[in-house]
Amino acid sequence: MGRIPERVIDEILDKADIESVVGHYVSFTKRSGSNLKGLCPFHSEKTPSFNVNTQKNIYKCFGCGKGGNAINFIMNIESLSYPEAVKFLGAKYGVDVPEEDSDYRESHIKQHKERVRKLLSDAEAFFIDEFKHSPDASVARSYAAGRQLDPDTCDKFGIGYAPAEWGVLKSFLVKKGYTEQEMADSGLFSVSSNGDKIFELFRGRLMFPIKDAFGNTIAFGGRNLGKELPKYINSPDSAVYKKQDNLYAYNIAKKERSKTLIVVEGYMDVIAMHKAGFSNTVAALGTAFTDSQLRLCARTGNCEEVVFFFDSDAAGQKAALRAIQMMIKYLRRMSGMMIIIKIAKVPGGKDPDEFIRQNGTEAFAKVVESAQTMSEYLAQRAYNDNVDENDKLDTARYLNDICLYGSWTDDEIARDIIAGEASKKLNMRIEVIINRMAGLASNDREREAMMEARGLGRMREEEIENRRSYQAQEQLPQEYYDSQVPPPETGALKKAEDVPQQDVPPGFPTFDQPQMSEDEIADPMQISLMAHALSLNELLCDKSMVDKEDIVRAGDFRCPNLKKMIREYYELYTEGTGVSVARFIDVMSKYLLNGRPAEDVILEAMTKCDRYSDSKVLRDMYLAILYKVRLEQMTVKEEELVKKMSLSMGEDREHIIQDLKKIDLYKKKIKDKESRI
Ligand SMILES: [Zn+2]
Repeated sequence: MGRIPERVIDEILDKADIESVVGHYVSFTKRSGSNLKGLCPFHSEKTPSFNVNTQKNIYKCFGCGKGGNAINFIMNIESLSYPEAVKFLGAKYGVDVPEEDSDYRESHIKQHKERVRKLLSDAEAFFIDEFKHSPDASVARSYAAGRQLDPDTCDKFGIGYAPAEWGVLKSFLVKKGYTEQEMADSGLFSVSSNGDKIFELFRGRLMFPIKDAFGNTIAFGGRNLGKELPKYINSPDSAVYKKQDNLYAYNIAKKERSKTLIVVEGYMDVIAMHKAGFSNTVAALGTAFTDSQLRLCARTGNCEEVVFFFDSDAAGQKAALRAIQMMIKYLRRMSGMMIIIKIAKVPGGKDPDEFIRQNGTEAFAKVVESAQTMSEYLAQRAYNDNVDENDKLDTARYLNDICLYGSWTDDEIARDIIAGEASKKLNMRIEVIINRMAGLASNDREREAMMEARGLGRMREEEIENRRSYQAQEQLPQEYYDSQVPPPETGALKKAEDVPQQDVPPGFPTFDQPQMSEDEIADPMQISLMAHALSLNELLCDKSMVDKEDIVRAGDFRCPNLKKMIREYYELYTEGTGVSVARFIDVMSKYLLNGRPAEDVILEAMTKCDRYSDSKVLRDMYLAILYKVRLEQMTVKEEELVKKMSLSMGEDREHIIQDLKKIDLYKKKIKDKESRI
């Protein structure tokens, strides 16, 4: 992994205050002092158990156990890697994150991606050139003219043509010096089943380059020009492209900084909209709208509302319902996202493109303005779907749809809107309808919670696997094992059931844990010692608070991971300020304790320290635990020596007796100190 300099991490954790970082995704319902509470964005819950501590700059959920700092919050919620999350926050909070790729593999991957990007941009130029000049492309040119794509528009969107003949693009790219591997990874080719041949994916098609937010070409969409199916082909996910994270024309739309972002179905719709002056239009790329696409919308400049257009045909309308259901779910999870979602409908069952051509820009602006909120749309939709041409309503089906749609949301106002009209039309009390919605919803939520827990479990397993392989690589220097206590027997593996388990919230299935490595096994006392030491923070090495010999050291821990952690702790330690918890979470995030992420375990233990508002009381608690741990170690050592003594003679025996005396003195000293607490 390319290393990011420590000072950059420090600066980011300093500037990216946890309240504003988390507040973008979670709305806080309660505030007391430096503690904020809200619904957890990582698991479904009805009463808030997600806590943010603005003073320590950390978060912790007591429902699912997740905890950490701003960086791992972003990693979790945006599904980013560590360096990506750092860059994400750096960009947002104005901290320069230098690219420092010391590692060969990392820089190799980067180089490969750069080559693939270059290839895609060369391919784009090739397609444009073909479109403009090749005699073969006349069918593409006449199609474009027929759809009123003038030369300026074609230039703006990089419209191109992929030749119908096999091998043309390939030989162009070979001449440019690209390897078959680079071509295969570009998404422009498909690979034969035995893997030794590549074929052009797009042939005889009108080409729409798909760009990332910065305008780099990362994929293509290709439309047929004859009768061949499918009508559209899109690049698959590739080394540089992830369909679910991108939107067509986003690079142009984001520059508008408009309050409204319009989402349509296809490339041609987007282009028509931009041509008509609605440059704030994007399209999802041949998939159902994803949560990361919605986040992308919400991140756009001044965006306050997203207006969706769905095709008017049956398929489009079915897609609309599914999209709304998903969207409500996304919003429920990202309760801090202040974005209004609306649904617009083009009159007369037309596409936006067609409508603009026939009725002009102003008429279309009115269509955008008259977009309905999701609740309004659902209420009307339930009616329209169940009324026949003679205005006769199928009341049973209508009521069913109304209750179903209302069950998708937890929002009282939304339910009121959806149930309101129905109550009048059916001459039924609104409470009856709303109760039915709530009943359906609670069944749904239970199922959802189970599904989520399963997903969360899978994510956790992956994360734990990663940390375990890191643990295996990172070994401590031998002197860290040469402490007062013998290291655990090598190769000894303990089973998960021998270690205290975390409380699993109701509804969460428990997961089979793989066997733990000895590095991560820690008893509650050691964990508590670490938690108290971290809670003392800058007072830990303050002579007026803690004697020098009472400062916790690696030797006090049996658990190798705790040893490694405390060593890194002192590396970061500065006199007077200590190490912020948020900063130290970054260190802990590499380790496991008892099969769980170390930061989750330690933060949990640290909350128990929070109740000591007086630092002297906290110090005394810390000392009490420290002495207990040290006495225990001495007892173990003593027992060993006694055993050894019975087998030794002469000088050896004398040494052991001396050692035992020393231990005895040391124990007395500790006990004496203990009694003075
Ligand atoms: Zn949670």
